[in-house]
Amino acid sequence: MGLDIPTLFVANIFVLAISSVAYISVFVRSQGDRYWLYWIAANVVLAASLAIYLSWPELPAHMAIIPDALLVLGFALRHAAARLFAGRAINRWPFGLVPLFMAASMGIGHVSFGYALTNIVLAGLAVLVAWEFWRDRGDRLFSRFGLVSVYGLMTLSFGARAGQGMLASDQVQSYIPYDAFLEMHLLVALIHVIAGSLFVLSLASERSAEALREVARRDPLTGLFNRRAFETQLAQYLGRSDVAVALVDVDHFKAVNDRFGHAAGDLVLKAVAEALAAAVGAAGHVARIGGEEFAIVLPGVDVAAAEAAAERARRAVENCHIGHGGQVIGVTVSVGVAHAGEPCETADDFLESADRALYGAKADGRNICAMGAGAAQQYRRGIAALAS
Ligand code: GH3
Ligand code: MG
Ligand code: MG
Repeated sequence: MGLDIPTLFVANIFVLAISSVAYISVFVRSQGDRYWLYWIAANVVLAASLAIYLSWPELPAHMAIIPDALLVLGFALRHAAARLFAGRAINRWPFGLVPLFMAASMGIGHVSFGYALTNIVLAGLAVLVAWEFWRDRGDRLFSRFGLVSVYGLMTLSFGARAGQGMLASDQVQSYIPYDAFLEMHLLVALIHVIAGSLFVLSLASERSAEALREVARRDPLTGLFNRRAFETQLAQYLGRSDVAVALVDVDHFKAVNDRFGHAAGDLVLKAVAEALAAAVGAAGHVARIGGEEFAIVLPGVDVAAAEAAAERARRAVENCHIGHGGQVIGVTVSVGVAHAGEPCETADDFLESADRALYGAKADGRNICAMGAGAAQQYRRGIAALAS
């Protein structure tokens, strides 16, 4: 390809240095997230290793162990960073590999096999970094696939170099053979450090954007979805005939606040939220849509199943006893349920129907579930009223 090898070394060192500066500014913003420190340390160590290779290409084999060991340390630091990003504890053993590797390299005393060993260890560490990013793919942060790819690419390149050391040992004369393989490897490394740095930054950015979105969706007191999230969810089910909505309102909640204080009231709201969420489970979505008002979206239910689910939720709250200051507080809820019956037109139709049912439950003495007419029926009735 005719690419100049020292230039490729310099380019790699520059990208490592520049991305370290970017990481430092993110680290300062992150208020001390150790994850970034490990990426920065890895870059510094890797850049130092490359600088030694570049400056002393004819380094004697026993001295070459130093830049080789720095490469191993750099990848061990990256592995630690990947684990920290995932919220996992750092593994110590990759760092233990560094002295082990140095001892083994000295023991081998054969340029080519030493070269193969270095690349086998690096390929192993690169694949472990890729694995750390791959295993959390369930969070659907797209940049992790970029990182898995660039670490996978690096694994292949290290693997090819290890093969070169083992199979073409008579051609490996210097501790770092200056050949077409090196040219390819440095080019892959350059792509790896550029793409890797971008993906590390974009992964963090994707995750913090997702965290902000999640905060905007949640009610801070109970951790349930808030009204906005509930409306978004409900909108997804509009047009289906097998959906129900239950509106849940705590009975005489004002009296709880008056008697036990606002803090106790908050505790009760949290307990009600937990009871509802546990009763509904995976069958639906529970949200806190107002002060002491909750809503449950129940997809995939007929009228009887919706009624049964609402009744389970009501009973769960009734059976919930909250300890506060040596006293036990018990509350009940009234529930109004609306079933779509037929594909309903708007969320407002739905909620109006459930609200009417809730009003009925309150009027009938509270601590009961009441079924409303289907939202679609309400809608049709409205049309009929307009027509007459
Ligand atoms: P009903 O059975 O008719 O629903 O009576 P209620 O007392 O529950 O209804 P009302 O609407 O009169 O009172 C609701 C109370 O909920 C009033 C308000 O102070 C209280 N509340 C609303 N949000 C919160 C909150 O976040 N924490 C606490 N502790 N109280 C809240
Ligand atoms: Mg209310
Ligand atoms: Mg109430």
